[in-house]
Amino acid sequence: MKKVLALILAVAMIASVAMLTACGGNNANKGNATDAKADADKTYIIYSDNAFAPFEYLDTETNAYVGVDMDIMAAIAEDQGIKYEMHNEGFDASMGAVQSGQADAMIAGMTITDERKETFDFSEPYFDDGQVIVAKAGTKMEDLKGKTVAAKTSTVGGEYAESIKDQYGFTINYYEGSDNMYQAVATGADVACVEDFSVIGYAIKTGQVNLEIISEEPANVKGYGFAVQKGKNAELIEKFNTGLANIKASGKYKEILAKYGY
Ligand code: GLN
Repeated sequence: MKKVLALILAVAMIASVAMLTACGGNNANKGNATDAKADADKTYIIYSDNAFAPFEYLDTETNAYVGVDMDIMAAIAEDQGIKYEMHNEGFDASMGAVQSGQADAMIAGMTITDERKETFDFSEPYFDDGQVIVAKAGTKMEDLKGKTVAAKTSTVGGEYAESIKDQYGFTINYYEGSDNMYQAVATGADVACVEDFSVIGYAIKTGQVNLEIISEEPANVKGYGFAVQKGKNAELIEKFNTGLANIKASGKYKEILAKYGY
């Protein structure tokens, strides 16, 4: 055991000496220290959705935004010493704010896709989800024919709806918020809507909507990621990833998910 430890230590020492040499020794260290100081002083502007329970939603008792994303961000920020301001403005607004540089980052149950990777840099995935079709009880996928289906602007749910609309013969109405979408289905304005499985599952379970999932398995299951504008705020992504690994190791991540029923 001791021998193994000694060997690991020796390898680590050789590796760090090699890294120092490769980086040009002291100069590289100085550069990092200056960057670290600038980062430490910065207050990051982070955007999010505003009606996407259990990831982010308004707690009407405290009048504060709560949810898995809000808690993960807070835990990682605490772990990594990140100062930030959260703006819960909606999903499409968050995408626009990051792309225009008005926001430094977003955390909004955002699915990591190859297309989005062209304009965003993502953290490691922190949750997996896919899309389902939701309607009033008793509705069948065949019943979508000739009707309108609600989808949310700029989401992968919208993309999914576009990909199956010809097959099922429906047209799409776009909404800014998940809450508007659910309401449109409840009032009958649209026959169904597309939503991330965990999110609509939570709404059904908590009795916020009286709808049911009418499609089969969730489609296009992928990871959710924290995102920045491509090529910007690389240090923030790095801190998020380190913080995520730390809160997973400490049990905090599990505790957060459990708090919201996972
Ligand atoms: N996961 C979906 C997407 O990334 C929906 C996100 C959301 O509505 N907040 O498009």
